[in-house]
Amino acid sequence: MAAHQEKKPSEESKRKSTQNGTGTSQVQWGRAWEVDWFSLASILFLLTFAPLIVYYFIMSCDQYQCSLIDPLIDLLMGNKHLSDIWNKTPTLTYRAAGIYTLWVAFQVVLYLFVPDFCHKFLPGYVGGVQEGAVTPAGVVNKYEINGLQAWIITHVLWFANAYYFHWFSPTIIFDNWIPLLWCANVLGYAVSTFAMIKSYFFPTNAKDCKFTGNFFYNYMMGIEFNPRIGKWFDFKLFFNGRPGIVAWTLINLSYAAKQQELYGQVTNSMILVNVLQGIYVLDFFWNEAWYLKTIDICHDHFGWYLGWGDCVWLPYLYTLQGLYLVYHPVQLCTANAIGILMLGLIGYYVFRMTNHQKDLFRRTNGNCKIWGKKPEYIECSYMSVDGTKYYSKLMTSGFWGWARHFNYTGDLMGSLAYCLTCGFEHILPYFYIVYMTILLTHRCIRDEHRCFSKYGKDWKRYTAAVPYRLIPGIF
Ligand code: NDP
Repeated sequence: MAAHQEKKPSEESKRKSTQNGTGTSQVQWGRAWEVDWFSLASILFLLTFAPLIVYYFIMSCDQYQCSLIDPLIDLLMGNKHLSDIWNKTPTLTYRAAGIYTLWVAFQVVLYLFVPDFCHKFLPGYVGGVQEGAVTPAGVVNKYEINGLQAWIITHVLWFANAYYFHWFSPTIIFDNWIPLLWCANVLGYAVSTFAMIKSYFFPTNAKDCKFTGNFFYNYMMGIEFNPRIGKWFDFKLFFNGRPGIVAWTLINLSYAAKQQELYGQVTNSMILVNVLQGIYVLDFFWNEAWYLKTIDICHDHFGWYLGWGDCVWLPYLYTLQGLYLVYHPVQLCTANAIGILMLGLIGYYVFRMTNHQKDLFRRTNGNCKIWGKKPEYIECSYMSVDGTKYYSKLMTSGFWGWARHFNYTGDLMGSLAYCLTCGFEHILPYFYIVYMTILLTHRCIRDEHRCFSKYGKDWKRYTAAVPYRLIPGIF
């Protein structure tokens, strides 16, 4: 896939940018160099509480039938002490450690040693060796895109086991859920710590490292931009996509299997969660090459936020609806089930089409049709750290003319649909929509801050042309 920027490294264009006064700010694009007190406080809060939040949610399901309030009431009324809850929590087991090690090792093998075959026979699928975007230091990394293949192989084996081989129970994930949580934490902390040490002693690309002088910020937000081991083991692509996202659909299948085991049937709400989240996951892998151009890969450095987040936060908190439905099997009436399905599918359509429009626009450098017409756009420029000037375009047509992040709006509609499958008895399944709203709103602001640093006055022209972020006329 061609990099979208048109590189014009002429001396004249470099001079022009410095003269108009935007040069200094424009070379600052990428994550922050300096840490303000609010960022530091947020980071310390997350480092301390994010692991506890995950534990609290999973423990509430295990010990309190997914009630988030009852553990607090028990503790406040003195009915229980923290030690009572902790003592009832399953510990790390050799079995879970074995399962987890095998799982991660299997995903490493699929990632590193099985070159993509899918792009050879699946029309329209972009796989195999692909290029990422230009990094702030002007590097263009190559990636082996084989996530779809890894997902298919893993799931074929899963179903082969469930229906034919019977090596292990399909409820294995649910049955070891808390012991596996400890394993995921070990990996999450190990990889984040390793990435930090690596960035000091043997960075993959020293020019793309950012040190803020604050240990906690560096640890959380990462120093290295694209840490790698060898030529192909890319930390971001591997940990973002697998093992967490490949596992997402398997975790849901395990929950469905548990419902079947406990109640002799799988409810329509569980099927909806499996189908809607399955579409989202499959979409991720079908578009893995496009993913190379998203913020995670293009702009975020690799630290605890991505390392621990992908190992623990994502598989444990993105799958809460399925977990909840094991404890509370909700059978939706047909009208509600259809309504939720429609909301989920429309959300997915908006999410996919918005992302597709930008991808098409950038790939063809604007020589395409959006909703049957030539797209309108704003020309903009920016500079990499070496002072080279690049040109880019910001589209103002299609969904990108409605709002500056309409892809997030679609994502939020889909997220709400997952939560609604669980009914209204408990708040736990609604964590996901609350979290996604905070995540994506924060991401909007973070991205816009970065884009402003990158494009300067051109970004201002763009926000004047498309004034809303998520909901036209409102926000
Ligand atoms: P976007 O795909 O919206 O990418 C933002 C970047 O696109 C900007 O930094 C800018 O980059 C470029 N851009 C912005 N406006 C325009 C425009 N008008 N025309 C052309 N290019 C533009 O954001 P993300 O990478 O955050 O998200 C990708 C998808 O992933 C989203 O659909 C989001 O919902 C989803 N997502 C899901 C998450 C989850 O946990 N489920 C988490 C995060 C994202 P440039 O510097 O190249 O100009």
